[in-house]
Amino acid sequence: MAENLNLFTSTQAVVQEALHKLGYDEAMYELLKEPLRMLEVRIPVRMDDNTVKVFTGYRAQHNDAVGPTKGGVRFHPGVTDEEVKALSMWMTLKCGIVDLPYGGGKGGVTCDPREMSMGELERLSRGYVRAVSQIVGPTKDIPAPDVFTNAQIMAWMMDEYSRIDEFNSPGFITGKPLVLGGSQGRDRATAQGVTICINEAAKKVGIDMTGARVVIQGFGNAGSFLAKFLSDQGAKVIGISDAYGALHDPNGLDIDYLLDRRDSFGTVTTLFENTISNQDLLELDCDILVPAAIENQITSDNAHNIKATIVVEAANGPTTAEATKILHERGILLVPDVLASAGGVTVSYFEWVQNNQGYYWTEEEVSEKLHKKMVDAFENIYNVASTRNINMRLAAYMVGVRRTAEASRFRGWV
Ligand code: GLU
Repeated sequence: MAENLNLFTSTQAVVQEALHKLGYDEAMYELLKEPLRMLEVRIPVRMDDNTVKVFTGYRAQHNDAVGPTKGGVRFHPGVTDEEVKALSMWMTLKCGIVDLPYGGGKGGVTCDPREMSMGELERLSRGYVRAVSQIVGPTKDIPAPDVFTNAQIMAWMMDEYSRIDEFNSPGFITGKPLVLGGSQGRDRATAQGVTICINEAAKKVGIDMTGARVVIQGFGNAGSFLAKFLSDQGAKVIGISDAYGALHDPNGLDIDYLLDRRDSFGTVTTLFENTISNQDLLELDCDILVPAAIENQITSDNAHNIKATIVVEAANGPTTAEATKILHERGILLVPDVLASAGGVTVSYFEWVQNNQGYYWTEEEVSEKLHKKMVDAFENIYNVASTRNINMRLAAYMVGVRRTAEASRFRGWV
């Protein structure tokens, strides 16, 4: 049988298994298998050539039993309703894992920002906010950056919401520029969270991070900061990639040079002649492999060839269910996406708290609080996995879904 590459149904399957292991019945799964609310919108945008293009966008709110929903907005040609729904479920899990008072939400617009001018992007961002403004807000559902959206886009969205709300509303959205109420450290938070997970995982399996050989797939926000943090820490980043190819140097790549040459979408390999494919990159001999790009990269086709001792998922959904099983059986420690990439939403929560209080923290305070959240979450999930003899993905889903299930039950929804 062909393996399941559908992110939505494969996420549902793990949620169902996690709920079952926690002792919940089918009714709880019926509630949690889909978002409570899903809005599909059409956004007309005047393009620079004076024509009007109509884009399709979404906002999914998975569950708000615990608190307002939270999650990024993705601008990407591959955005579909099912992807947004799956990603909103993941946000419920992430918020549960790092214990934030939120449920999961997610948004997206099917578009290619690489082919749009700044003016077109601004009009699209503002149009998206107008289209979803009825269901979002600082106490309802708080958006943030995701794939191909950034602090500038958050600033336009915040400004548009503030106009609709007739009030300056910094807590409407996170990932803003510092001058508009952003938090110290938000731009690097995802990579910092991944770094913390890598360090914790390395301790568990006895890898010394000094000189450890790391391969990172993807050189976007997460991948590029991560390469920098790990090489500064003394690890050897021997492979990186972007959408067009990969670079490999067994003696370690010059990360500062590559960071200097990458464009704002993370493209850098096109400047080199000696490249390898993304598939070859994943199978390189290394200690730590970090898929930080797109979904379904480690599948039943290549899971047997992975040579890393630890796989840490910085991307959402890079490893299929079948591949997760294979890696577990082969004794490779897999730190799942819902844990490893939770640093971004954690600092988003810190940003929202600071906005609500109007009192801003130093970078050290943010970094210390993030460190504690991530280490606690890692330990908790590692212990659940070891005690129950299950893989860390299932353990993370159990920890992540439990609070929303309990809150839904207390509210009398199930
Ligand atoms: N888009 C990020 C994620 O998937 C961050 C979400 C947020 O900061 O709310 O975790």
